[in-house]
Amino acid sequence: MITKKSVSRRRPIAVGNWKMHKTVAESAAAARRLSRLLSGIRRLEVVIAPSCTALQSVGATLKGTRLRLAAQNLHWENEGAFTGEVSPVQLKEVGCRYVLIGHSERRRLFGETDNVAGRKVSSALRQGLNVIFCIGETLEQRRADQTAAVVREQLEKGLADVTGGSSDRIAIAYEPVWAIGTGQTAAALQISGAHEMIRRQLTEIFGPDSSEAIRVLYGGSVTSDNIAELAGIKNLDGVLVGGASLQTDGFAAIVKILDKMKRQDEKEGSEKCIFC
Ligand code: PEP
Repeated sequence: MITKKSVSRRRPIAVGNWKMHKTVAESAAAARRLSRLLSGIRRLEVVIAPSCTALQSVGATLKGTRLRLAAQNLHWENEGAFTGEVSPVQLKEVGCRYVLIGHSERRRLFGETDNVAGRKVSSALRQGLNVIFCIGETLEQRRADQTAAVVREQLEKGLADVTGGSSDRIAIAYEPVWAIGTGQTAAALQISGAHEMIRRQLTEIFGPDSSEAIRVLYGGSVTSDNIAELAGIKNLDGVLVGGASLQTDGFAAIVKILDKMKRQDEKEGSEKCIFC
């Protein structure tokens, strides 16, 4: 039975991670089309994360729309001799409201540790950015029954300096590494189980009030074909979409299905509550 408690009041969110794809012109054109296709979306928050080179142009394109801009990475310092890096201050200047931190590709390919991710999280929050903090286990870790311990360590180290007061600017993206870019989406039961565990761990870290505001998303081979099943998971506050977000119309379809199903959940939840 749906009860008031089981229906989330957190604003659902869909994030498109374009990774190292699209030229500046292609990115701006996709952002323009997306903002047109999604102009009717009110409840769901939609965020796109283009390549660094396209941030300024996409930021300008999104100005005045409901879509939000995210960076895929940042350095923890505001300025300095850090060749090749981009600071939170620079990201805000081009219109970023969000930043992805701790993506498994950053961890796996660029040696980003939990401690480094933690420094980035603190810096981003200090500068007023919202953080999408990515966590998740590898296949070997899942098979060895280490998922809970791995996720716990990622959360504890990555959010070490976060105080309850800024927890509402954090979203956790649970992205099992084995599901990212593989076409192997986690099963609904695996996702809801992991989200339940993450929610429990967040409550232990931040306490019930502050943790309640934190959105927990799923990422890993989300497509327009499987979004309806994923959107039915009650403790899922949104999705982080990689490959499928590169197709503008496909990503718009994902957003629309998720928005519709989450609005439906809320409606059923509040209708139920009148009598409970
Ligand atoms: C991602 O990049 O975070 C991701 C989930 O990728 P994909 O959707 O392609 O698996």
